[in-house]
Amino acid sequence: MSLAIYPGSFDPMTYGHIDIIDRSLKVFDRIIVAIAINPAKSGLFSLAERTEMIREVFSGNPRVEVDSFEGLLVNYLERRKANAVIRGLRAVSDFEYEFQMANMNRKLLPAAETFFLMTGADYFYVSSRLVKEVASLGGCVAGLVPETVRKRLTEKVGGGE
Ligand code: ADP
Repeated sequence: MSLAIYPGSFDPMTYGHIDIIDRSLKVFDRIIVAIAINPAKSGLFSLAERTEMIREVFSGNPRVEVDSFEGLLVNYLERRKANAVIRGLRAVSDFEYEFQMANMNRKLLPAAETFFLMTGADYFYVSSRLVKEVASLGGCVAGLVPETVRKRLTEKVGGGE
């Protein structure tokens, strides 16, 4: 059974993330969506809220698990006995940071590989940060995030129907 870890903040999960997970499922048998806990960055949604939203979206799909981790990704990979990491690429601007991270992880754990997937054209411009910004300014984010996320965003920061 092939297994890959998809780490990220997922604050909150967007259709861009979901697109990457759907593509990964064509290649890997199981995906663990691993929410990175960053004590220095509180985020809009709590860990429990982020977990709940992702579980709702993938309920009924036993191939997707939701988990969280603190500290180094490579330690988490070893703990979960996984050696594949999924990351998504949108624009050239993602490349520099992702390239550095992938190489650092390769240095720390040579047994692991990072796989980059390109998002579908519809989601190139979607990021959690922008979705939060648009919602907080009263814009409609339907079509960018699943309904459960849209509802919770509206409760937290407002936004159009
Ligand atoms: P991080 O803080 O680790 O970047 P994010 O939740 O913002 O966490 O993103 C997790 C991963 O998903 C990253 O590899 C990011 O590039 C990717 N990603 C986010 N949004 C999209 C999108 N719209 N299309 C493709 N990949 C995306």
